Amino acid sequence: MNLLPGGYRDAGGVLHREFELAPLTGREEELLAHRSAAPTAALVTDVLSRCVARLGAISPVTQDVTRHLLVADRLYLLLRLRQATFGDVVRAALTCPWAECGEQMSVDFSIADVPVDEQPDRAPQYAMTLSGGTEVAFRLPTGADQELLSERLAANEAEALTALLSRCVLRIGDRPPDPDRVAALPAAARLEIEERMRELAPKVEQTLAARCAECGRTFVAPFDVHRFFFGELRTDATVLYQEVHYLAYHYHWSEGEIMAMTRDKRHTYIDVLADTIEVLNSGA
Ligand SMILES: [Zn+2]
Repeated sequence: MNLLPGGYRDAGGVLHREFELAPLTGREEELLAHRSAAPTAALVTDVLSRCVARLGAISPVTQDVTRHLLVADRLYLLLRLRQATFGDVVRAALTCPWAECGEQMSVDFSIADVPVDEQPDRAPQYAMTLSGGTEVAFRLPTGADQELLSERLAANEAEALTALLSRCVLRIGDRPPDPDRVAALPAAARLEIEERMRELAPKVEQTLAARCAECGRTFVAPFDVHRFFFGELRTDATVLYQEVHYLAYHYHWSEGEIMAMTRDKRHTYIDVLADTIEVLNSGA
């Protein structure tokens, strides 16, 4: 069974964790080909709403739902989507970080082996008492927070983190906080809240351990799920349309039928065609 590490709580308070995916097709590749900018949280929301066919009792899964998933749940879905579309094995190009070595290598790893931390305490909000005695309540960050803050994060990280905390802290003492009050919290108090959020949030490991075959030393390399996922999927729109044309020309399938195929399936038919045409040309 496919289960989100965290889960989505609907307006009625029901938690939905089980999900069903539809693999990526030419349609999603087309969407990505026309977005030239770096992958954004909004794009993740969009892709997930197209490819998560069902989440618990929720179907169709709208952008409003995928936007409000926890940060780690969204990462987890991207990984599983990659697995469903292109298989489990990932080939990462790494460089040995030891200065005197610097060997380039390609390392295969399995998506199923990426460590995922589920947190058993799945509450819609959490309460904690700060060292100073003040009680605060907060929720965990979601894609909606990422969408709103990603631009500000690039411009001014400290300001964006304050804004994130303002969105996630639901209560300070017995009052709902205004942004000024969150910004005015002492640094130590903010740190305590952030620390507790990290403890309670599910996690998808975004590093991988590798061993250099040249110098034999081990190292930890970053594995940025967003960059990996979108980098691998990035298709040149011209190539995509040429492939569609090629298949439509020979098989007389409609554009819609071809675009509904996964990339692997499309490429399989192209390979079969290429082989057949080669046989015909050689007169066999
Ligand atoms: Zn090395």
